[in-house]
Amino acid sequence: MTELIKNYIGGEWRPAQSGATFTTINPATEAVIADVAKSGVEDVSAAIEAAKRAYPKWRLLPAPRRGEILYRVGQLLIERKEEIARLMTQEMGKVIAEARGDVQEAIDMAFYIGGEGRRLLGYTAPVEMPNKFGMALRDSVGVVALITPWNFPIAIPSWKSLPALIAGNTVVFKPASDTPALGAAWAKVFQDAGLPEGVFNLVLGPGGVIGDALAEHPDVRVISFTGSTEVGYGLYARAARRGKKVSLELGGKNAIIVMDDANFDLAVEAILWSAFGTTGQRCTATSRLIVQRGIRAKLTEALVERAKQLKLGDGLDESVQVGPLVNAKARENVHRYVEIGKSEGARLLCGGQYAEGRGFFYLPTIFDNVTPQMCIAQEEIFGPVLSIIEASSLEEAITINNSVAYGLSSSIFTENVNAAFRAIRDLTTGIVYINHGTTGAEIQFPFGGTRGTGNGMREAGLTALDTFTEWKSVYVDYSGRLQRAQIDTDAILSGS
Ligand code: NAD
Repeated sequence: MTELIKNYIGGEWRPAQSGATFTTINPATEAVIADVAKSGVEDVSAAIEAAKRAYPKWRLLPAPRRGEILYRVGQLLIERKEEIARLMTQEMGKVIAEARGDVQEAIDMAFYIGGEGRRLLGYTAPVEMPNKFGMALRDSVGVVALITPWNFPIAIPSWKSLPALIAGNTVVFKPASDTPALGAAWAKVFQDAGLPEGVFNLVLGPGGVIGDALAEHPDVRVISFTGSTEVGYGLYARAARRGKKVSLELGGKNAIIVMDDANFDLAVEAILWSAFGTTGQRCTATSRLIVQRGIRAKLTEALVERAKQLKLGDGLDESVQVGPLVNAKARENVHRYVEIGKSEGARLLCGGQYAEGRGFFYLPTIFDNVTPQMCIAQEEIFGPVLSIIEASSLEEAITINNSVAYGLSSSIFTENVNAAFRAIRDLTTGIVYINHGTTGAEIQFPFGGTRGTGNGMREAGLTALDTFTEWKSVYVDYSGRLQRAQIDTDAILSGS
């Protein structure tokens, strides 16, 4: 009998009210990690109720005090970095160095946004009447719901939870069903940091049931969702009918452009890292290589040779470079796209099949002769599959980059500063890299994308608080008389 991972509601660890459970497994070994509470609508209601009860007190706690709790969260994450990273590798498969980076991102966010406790900046502006004062303040919203994917199981919850909390909201958090133990580890950090009961609540279980309950509940004012475009849009439509604010961070179909004048060795390293790191399961993963004609053959040859040498295996082994896909279904999905690519006429250069042995491993795969409109060049595959597309010029490369339904990240390798600045101007993605792959965002800049990647919201950076705050405009009239804005202005100026 394995340990039961429970919900964290109102400061207590509780099984699902129905007693139902599901299991979580290690994708590298297929061993069962734990049994997990499989929550229903009644558990969601209890979590929302707990968050609602905790809200009035939490919102009135001075923000600098809230910030001190977040600093403690950051300190605990530092102490638990290795332990959480190892759990991450076991629960979702990313290699240990990347798992440490995932936790580090949450540490960075804790200290960055903890500082907002002494800012949460609003502003004042002159007003049109004498003896009157105006200011705009950021206000908390109430109970917010956070729904996250499994691929950055600590970093993404941190981008949402920490800004939500510093702004004075209380939280109901629903992590992905593939990473419940990490969801519980995240909640435990808040418990141990001394966050008051009910301020942060965890509900584990199936996305459909829990997501619907969160979208329908009148006491949830904001939903912040990261995941697939299909699920995100469904949730958005449902929540919109109840007038909720929804922030969406969805899929990607990111490309690296390599120009003939690129630093060749640097481009090779960056492409391998961006395409096959996290087994291609990053929202910012490179799945298209748009390469200028003159460098194409040499680059293709180098990439194939290096991709074949990548070491697959259990990510707890420090020498492993590529872990498994997250589960059997994900691997089937990747293979389905590979079959589609072949049927579309793309040329398979390496990979294209399951790796032998236990675990959900898939060989790093490269397709050549891909055209921009092929399905494998348009749809998010979310696996270790790179499609090579030729372009004759910078303009054509940028057009190809922009011609997909997503707009998260893009990159160009060139030594020509004019080409780099044209690319910055014309690439229509939320993130643009010059001489770096498509991954590697830092938390002090906005994160998110255009088109089908979202709905115009951004996480992190100066935008981190936008989802989790409402603006409140305040006018203080200390004239002692009725001064009607837009009406009495002239009279006041003439002294009458
Ligand atoms: P997913 O959409 O299957 O699941 C995401 C979350 O939604 C999970 O917690 C899941 O349980 C929940 N969910 C499932 N059905 C739901 C429903 N009907 N209502 C509400 N919630 C529901 O995505 P995934 O497979 O976990 O993650 C991979 C996807 O996430 C990829 O498309 C990837 O590009 C995207 N992603 C985007 C970003 C970004 O910032 N843009 C970052 C990471 C991942």
